[in-house]
Amino acid sequence: MKTFEKSRAKLAEAKQVLAGGVASTLRGSMKPTPLYVESASGVTVKDVDGNEYLDYQLAYGPLILGHAHPGFNEKVSKAMAKGITYGLQHDGEIELARRLTEVLPCADKVVLSGSGTEAVMLALRLSRAYTGKSKVVRFHGHYHGWSDSIFTSFPSPDMMQKATSAAADSVPPGTKGQSELSLQDVILLPWNEPETLEATLRAHAHEIAAVISEPVMCNSGCILPLPGYLEQIRELTRELNIVFIMDEVITGFRLSPGGAHGRFGINPDLVTVGKALGGGIAVSAVGGRKEIFELIDSEQVSHLGTLNGNGVATSSALAVLELLTENDGAVYGKMEDNAIKLATGIRVLFEKHGHRGVVNQIGPVFHFMFIEEDEVTHFDTFQKRNSGKYAKFAELMLDEGVLVRPNGLWYISTVHEADHIEKTLQAIDRVFVRLTEG
Ligand code: PLP
Repeated sequence: MKTFEKSRAKLAEAKQVLAGGVASTLRGSMKPTPLYVESASGVTVKDVDGNEYLDYQLAYGPLILGHAHPGFNEKVSKAMAKGITYGLQHDGEIELARRLTEVLPCADKVVLSGSGTEAVMLALRLSRAYTGKSKVVRFHGHYHGWSDSIFTSFPSPDMMQKATSAAADSVPPGTKGQSELSLQDVILLPWNEPETLEATLRAHAHEIAAVISEPVMCNSGCILPLPGYLEQIRELTRELNIVFIMDEVITGFRLSPGGAHGRFGINPDLVTVGKALGGGIAVSAVGGRKEIFELIDSEQVSHLGTLNGNGVATSSALAVLELLTENDGAVYGKMEDNAIKLATGIRVLFEKHGHRGVVNQIGPVFHFMFIEEDEVTHFDTFQKRNSGKYAKFAELMLDEGVLVRPNGLWYISTVHEADHIEKTLQAIDRVFVRLTEG
């Protein structure tokens, strides 16, 4: 059994001075204890107790190239040597903006920002300014960052209860401290339900500025859109003068260089990207139609941020895009093959050990859940999963040297190899036995 004495001691020390002990609320829920990292390289993370893990958490998504990728580090260090940030303009901004307009099919222009949360804030502001309307339709189980005007609650098992019970016209705040009024413009709908969507959009078209949706519900079950559903959002929003925002903070550069909208061939009006774009460095972007960005060109809509477009951010994003697209983007095939191998192997192991479960996979991302249903295509079904059993599984996997998120979302990077997948399946095989034994 692995021990975690040093991590536990460091958490206690952190709690003296760092509110909550961790830097982002969700990280505090890790069992048996939030880990403190000594170093990380490739697919391997080493903690302060000397334990090593094969990493499928990938820092909640950004590390599409793995940890400390030498090519990435070299490019970013070179840029850093020329100064980190100027508060002035530089070629990196133009180069990155141009590159983003090349890879993201919906982007005539882009704006650079610091995090997914900020990108979503800007996309909402642009939508309201462009349409002259104020309401925003968002969906159960999706997550669009933690800003007050959109945060309904994080889709974790216990915290999500509040959101599921919300009526469409009264969305409760996701956290204490959020104004009761902050979500007054939000209409919360079930996802993958075409009739509800059409009825709501038609009834409220006069007041809806935007529909915001993850193109694949990665934050809750990696649920794919039903055939025709994203097309329906696209057509209705176009007809009703509503901005369609695709939140590709997870899917961007992961499902293809052009994200999910590139893969599915459906262009939203605005796309938000982050996470993988920076390879671990804080950078995000909003891309979309030039008519909408004219509001920024003409300074009618403000977009600010001291560190926007800094040299570390732009060089990181350029490095990621270069490394992902070299050799005709061969890494995408590799990542997807490995994800399929792992997802298929897990399904075989469910059978072998008599555990009921579902693995929803697309590209290098999948959600693994213990559930009695045969398939999970809606958030309501996803809520029936046995999250306690999965949390136990995640804890046992840690003991086997495999780091997975306690909520079931797995990421594959460009540096995961076939033998890592094999080792992981062997670990799952053993853990399934330990789970059965209780
Ligand atoms: N949008 C989606 C779909 C996300 O998954 C996230 C983060 O998980 C965000 C927005 C917020 O991004 P950030 O954590 O960079 O603010």
